[in-house]
Amino acid sequence: MSTVVAGASSRDAGAVRPEWDRDAALVGGQWVRPGGRTVTEVENPATETVIGHAADCGVAEADAAIHAAGAAFPGWSALAPTARVAILEGLASALESRYDLLVQTTIAEVGAPLSVAREAHVDTGLAVLRGYLDAARELAWEEHVGNSLVVREGIGVAACITPWNYPFYQVLAKVGGALVAGATVVLKPAELTPLSAYLLADAVVEAGLPPGVFNLVPGRGRVVGEALAAHPLVDMVSFTGSTRVGSRVSAVASETVKRVGLELGGKSASVVLEGADLDSAVRATVDACMLNSGQTCTAWSRLLVHRSDLDRAVAIARERAQGLALGDPTRPETEIGPVASAAQRHTVIGFIERALAAGATLVTGGADRPAGLPVGHYVRPTVLAGAAPDAEIVREEVFGPVLVLEAYDTDDEALAMANGTHYGLAGAVWGPDRAGAVAFARRMRTGQVDVNGGAFNPVAPFGGYRRSGNGRELGRWGIEEFLETKAIQL
Ligand code: NAD
Repeated sequence: MSTVVAGASSRDAGAVRPEWDRDAALVGGQWVRPGGRTVTEVENPATETVIGHAADCGVAEADAAIHAAGAAFPGWSALAPTARVAILEGLASALESRYDLLVQTTIAEVGAPLSVAREAHVDTGLAVLRGYLDAARELAWEEHVGNSLVVREGIGVAACITPWNYPFYQVLAKVGGALVAGATVVLKPAELTPLSAYLLADAVVEAGLPPGVFNLVPGRGRVVGEALAAHPLVDMVSFTGSTRVGSRVSAVASETVKRVGLELGGKSASVVLEGADLDSAVRATVDACMLNSGQTCTAWSRLLVHRSDLDRAVAIARERAQGLALGDPTRPETEIGPVASAAQRHTVIGFIERALAAGATLVTGGADRPAGLPVGHYVRPTVLAGAAPDAEIVREEVFGPVLVLEAYDTDDEALAMANGTHYGLAGAVWGPDRAGAVAFARRMRTGQVDVNGGAFNPVAPFGGYRRSGNGRELGRWGIEEFLETKAIQL
């Protein structure tokens, strides 16, 4: 990412679409240019060209947005939940009318292949928002307990800080829940992927949300992110990103005792129990690990198989990974695009090189640039085996298309291995009978487990155990994140 003064952009400015050429923050319903009119360039990771710009805001814009959100809060939170839902139905419709642009934006700023941009990014984001609107109708907003009326109301000003891997979905997972709850929002999207957040802001304006209910302040994490986390008028920070930065956000926010919701990294295990359909389990694990070029917090980046199945599992994983179509994300047949930035490619390549140097075996892929793709931040879908149980590649999140196979001898050992990292975000169990697989899933210390290929549910609670975070998003749980509870004694 680089910063330039608006109007003085550099590389390949001819490719910039008007919807992606932005230089302002949305504050209190007005588009406000930051002082100095600086913007950041947005790069397409497949072409390495500049395809857009975003405002590079500072502390002043963050402060103004927080005040605007604070001013809008009493009115927004006083609306009946049904009235908020009616307004937010308009937001959902305004987003749905931008469907093709959202898909094109996701391809361009993330590098996600067309089908992944459609299904995993945009469809899922829209389903999450619709899920919140449905959940709001079911939620117990008030109840009587003895002589008390217990009411649930929006927490106040919610600062939402989001990463770049599923930018549209991650923003809606926070903003949708917060707005339904009656909180008002200041959003700081990731530096690499601010463009879908601008499209959300456009939809907010079109849908006629009251000014200040939603504010957008693109900028750097250490500047705008920290200003939001530290600000005394922010009641809650909802953060999705790395464990390292989440820990920093918590520390900064603790000074003012605000609520902090964290959705952090993972190193999730897909466990194939003896007697499971090995072929389906291994193929599905490779696909899930490589989805979005492995830049998925819930990626099953570890595949645990019984030692007697290891050789067959290695062969199936090699064949499946080699069969994945890597390349231009705009082509319908592409299954894996580039990773999101040169820095991310460098990080992923480093993990592969260190794993091999530490004794892991390369099953397929590797650190070298894929043939025929001289431009773009491409990484070959990589499968490793034979790593030591305490190796970095087994314990740390790579956030790239890298799967590591491990062998176990007993179910208890498989469980200890699956639970043996600091993370606890997701996982999978494959077994010959559902009851046995569910029993194993219950023993996993992780926020969600898919049994025999159970599908992602956009209204089920989503969040981590341990260093994968403490929040729960989606469905009614994602609304409750942003609620305060008050007891009125009668
Ligand atoms: P990151 O932690 O570097 O950045 C996330 C956000 O925090 C960005 O908007 C960034 O600008 C901001 N930020 C950076 N420094 C900050 C600071 N000091 N104070 C406040 N904000 C700051 O993460 P990333 O590289 O954008 O995303 C990848 C990480 O996110 C991975 O670890 C991944 O597992 C995790 N993730 C988790 C989930 C989940 O739901 N659990 C979902 C997606 C991604």
